[in-house]
Amino acid sequence: MSTTIPLIVKILASSVSVANRAGKIVRDVMSKGELGIVEKGKDDYQTEADRSAQKCIIASLSAQYPKVKIIGEEEESPDDKGAIPSDWIVVESDKDVLCMQCPASLQGICEEDIVVWVDPLDGTSEYTQGFLEHVTVLIGISVNEKPVAGVIHQPYYKTIIGGEKVMGRTIWGLQEAGVGGYTPAPPPDSLIITTTRSHSNPIVEQALQVMNASQILRVGGAGYKVLQLLEGKASVYVFASPGCKKWDTCAPEAILAAAGGKLTDILGNFYKYGATVSHPNKTGVLAAVNDELHNYALTRIPRELKDTLAKK
Ligand code: AMP
Ligand code: MG
Ligand code: MG
Repeated sequence: MSTTIPLIVKILASSVSVANRAGKIVRDVMSKGELGIVEKGKDDYQTEADRSAQKCIIASLSAQYPKVKIIGEEEESPDDKGAIPSDWIVVESDKDVLCMQCPASLQGICEEDIVVWVDPLDGTSEYTQGFLEHVTVLIGISVNEKPVAGVIHQPYYKTIIGGEKVMGRTIWGLQEAGVGGYTPAPPPDSLIITTTRSHSNPIVEQALQVMNASQILRVGGAGYKVLQLLEGKASVYVFASPGCKKWDTCAPEAILAAAGGKLTDILGNFYKYGATVSHPNKTGVLAAVNDELHNYALTRIPRELKDTLAKK
């Protein structure tokens, strides 16, 4: 009975369904071919897909959970206040997620305790350049400043079900309860690092060089990089730059933690995800599949490099 399902489980189940719909919007914009690219800043773009997918997600979640604070990456422009297509409002919930066991620590929370961080399209550079498998939709759910649940949806992931090609898959995680939507795999035998494809700089490269890795994978999006950790394609994600924002890391951090991994800044500190925090992750991102690898990477990064990022 829906009234007995804890709020956090309901929001996660709603987020899975709305991420699927947002992913279809992302594909539809690309199929139409009118991307409507806007340059927000240096190396920072927005497309019609980013704008529309965010409207779908925020309208759907705020209709069902009006007191939850939702923070999306894209700014709403004043001439954007009009009605959105009715088929962008999703009220369904994922049935598998609704059956998840909620940890005791999250059972008593109310809407006012929750902040949802939305990246409607993570990997916009890659989307515009045709690296479509890097693109994800991210919905991260934080409670009392801590990421506790999240969704990573991949609009261009292909599977064959019953002989038919199905586009898109959705990965989710809930603190102390588990993860779903993919097949977890152990880390690779040698150290494989994943990092940015389109936002590198000399400090980012310096932090990679000191890792002594057997391979460095350069792919787009925080969501896709954490998926590589979850699926055993890489073991550590290193990004010594202030470029990522809270909406990039909230969902990936929550899912990675639910799978036994860890995401912090380059200094080893956790980010906070309360409603009033500043959006940039100024001191970078360091994530690993387990504590041991996280600690290894943390100790390899030179003190001066940490100090340089901390001063920025
Ligand atoms: P990347 O690993 O470069 O694909 O970046 C992961 C996320 O952080 C994406 O949402 C990027 O847009 C964002 N990001 C990283 N670096 C920058 C930057 N220098 N300027 C703007 N956004 C960035
Ligand atoms: Mg992003
Ligand atoms: Mg984005």
